[in-house]
Amino acid sequence: MAQAFSKPKVVFSACLVSEPVRYNGKRIKDEFCEKLARLVDVIRVCPEVGIGLPVPRDPIVIVFDEKKRAVQKETDRDLTEALLKFSVDFLDALDKVDGFVLKGKSPSCALRDAIAYRLCESKRSVVKTSGIFAEVAMEKFPQVAFTDESGLKHFWRREHFLCRIFASAELREAIETGSKTELLKLHERYKYLLMAHSPSLLKKLGKLVSNLKGAELSEIFSQYKDLFRSALSVQPTRGKHFNVLQHIYGYFKDRVDEKEKRKLVKLLNDFSSGSASLTKVRRTFMLYAEKFNVEYLLNQRYLRPYPEELEGL
Ligand code: SF4
Repeated sequence: MAQAFSKPKVVFSACLVSEPVRYNGKRIKDEFCEKLARLVDVIRVCPEVGIGLPVPRDPIVIVFDEKKRAVQKETDRDLTEALLKFSVDFLDALDKVDGFVLKGKSPSCALRDAIAYRLCESKRSVVKTSGIFAEVAMEKFPQVAFTDESGLKHFWRREHFLCRIFASAELREAIETGSKTELLKLHERYKYLLMAHSPSLLKKLGKLVSNLKGAELSEIFSQYKDLFRSALSVQPTRGKHFNVLQHIYGYFKDRVDEKEKRKLVKLLNDFSSGSASLTKVRRTFMLYAEKFNVEYLLNQRYLRPYPEELEGL
């Protein structure tokens, strides 16, 4: 059976995990964020409270004049430097991190949809931009997965984010063992998941681990980590999933009777046309892998890339 999941270390905007830190003092109730927070190691952050602002407080807006600035609406107090310093200090102190779940639309935390006012020759226009903290974080951790709460409500974006954070934690732990065997086992477990994201990078990773004799291990680990994370950063398409599912179906097609074969082929075609969900196909294939005790598939992270509690349709 596949081994237990490693616990990802995830930075959350504190207001998404029920902390009363918002400018208006209100709590946000986000069920999925709370569920996810129970299954990962949560690192909470509220940049605005982090720079000493009270709750409640005068809201901040982003303005573009000579440069991008964060100012408090009422008083025009410029908080840009304080927020930048807090962000750099906080992010520099992070030892290990597998993902970020940040609050959308916030002038501090938004990934790309904070409202900003552009002032140009007394004309005012509205644009969208990232928050001050989020911008520093994305620059510092280009290979780490980021989402906002709306991304977690969208099946494919949530799927991609969850695959990345759980894989990143497992990769991190395998590398920390410093063991060649653990790296090889990880590579085997992730074969189909990597194939769904990037067949070309899977090939490169395969080459890397097939050549370990006499190699400098720390160099191999570092290259493997970069390639693995790059592969998983590619959003898989339905076509690539279909290709992987066909490979997996190949393990059962000669073991099932005609009626089951028709059922499985229909399920694959329904997935291809968009009328069956990935979760449904994965669950069905997992049952067949158990029924026929196909250990190689039972070990594949592709069929269960993150805890069942987080699965959606
Ligand atoms: S969005 Fe960010 S800055 Fe605003 S309350 Fe939430 S954690 Fe704090």
